[in-house]
Amino acid sequence: MNFSIKTLIAVGLVLGASFLAKNSSIFLFSNPEVRVPKEILAGQNFILVANQAGIATTTANKILEETKKIYDLSQISAGKDLTFIYDKNSGNLKELRYEIDKENELRIKNNSTTTIDHWVAEKLPIEYKVIIAEAKGTIENSLYETIVSQNLDQRLALALAEMFAWQIDFATQIQKGDSFKVIYEKKYRGDTYDHPGKILATEFINSGERFQGFYFNPVRDREGSQRASVSNGVKGDKTKEGYYDEAGNSLQKVFLKAPLQYKYVSSGFSYSRFNPILQVYTKHRGIDYAAAFGTPAVAVGDGTVVQAGWNGEYGISVKVRHNETYTTVYGHFSSLAKGIRVGAKVRQGQIIGYVGSTGLSTGPHLHYEMHKFGSFINPFTEKIPAGEPIKDEDRSAFQVVLDKYTKNLDKI
Ligand SMILES: [Zn+2]
Repeated sequence: MNFSIKTLIAVGLVLGASFLAKNSSIFLFSNPEVRVPKEILAGQNFILVANQAGIATTTANKILEETKKIYDLSQISAGKDLTFIYDKNSGNLKELRYEIDKENELRIKNNSTTTIDHWVAEKLPIEYKVIIAEAKGTIENSLYETIVSQNLDQRLALALAEMFAWQIDFATQIQKGDSFKVIYEKKYRGDTYDHPGKILATEFINSGERFQGFYFNPVRDREGSQRASVSNGVKGDKTKEGYYDEAGNSLQKVFLKAPLQYKYVSSGFSYSRFNPILQVYTKHRGIDYAAAFGTPAVAVGDGTVVQAGWNGEYGISVKVRHNETYTTVYGHFSSLAKGIRVGAKVRQGQIIGYVGSTGLSTGPHLHYEMHKFGSFINPFTEKIPAGEPIKDEDRSAFQVVLDKYTKNLDKI
């Protein structure tokens, strides 16, 4: 196995320093407050956790009500912390903190100057220090194993699979000898590594074919490039933030490469276990994906459900009409996902059913068909139209990004 990882540029945002200062307040007499993080246990709701932190139910209910517009505390998840901050002298609750997700923190403060509490909630971006890192690897068995064996964050494998979900079927098409190079963000809270941020540029070689992706943010990347005039044109006519290939076409296409997504397949899998079998000669034409019972299957594109439920040899199946040209069929489900019925609108990547073995089937697998004007086609070889390109007004800014990262990828 061939690999290297080195840190390229440390972008010190100095945001970590303020985070450390805040956390050390418990030891400072000049700032008399006490912080008590409480882990939310399975089955606990906000009121219960608050009660355990010494907060009366009436106060907890008031907090719940007064912060609902910003965040609904009945949505808190088990495994995370609620941090209670008390005034050291009076013992009264001053503030509550909760990490909504990796990007946002909820802060609820008692804003009252009288004896009647008034709770004001704010959703604030979490401050991270960002380091630009690079990595490369060659796949022996699976992308996941290659990433983990290099002590890289396993979430990087998911991020790569998501980035190329329209180009490469990561659940089944990854081969021994495939390789990747990636330049990405590593996010730190203070000095502690937290999670991978954006992938900035990648090259992925799958079965000898090269795929590249570059992150482009039209607002950020335009700065510094000489844009003549800001002619925004009609709505929806702007370049979207996201990933583009070397020709400036969006990586996002009308159809995902496959209905089984890497993120839903167990983490330690080997590519050989998911080898899809193309059934061209039987009446039952399509692609059979061997997959574990219960694995979620997703709609490959936006569309409308035109069949859902039992359908003869297909067992429990779903048919999605995407547009005048394309329809997809998914068969042998053990059950349908919630809300999947005739007439339902589905989005690309939405779970529509769970792998099973209903109908004419000898073991759990997903049967998948793509139809063009009503006839079966092979989705492996069908040329799906390219995604939305970079708009003309952003071409020069994109070229700057492309030149920089192509050079940096070559050096890895
Ligand atoms: Zn089949």
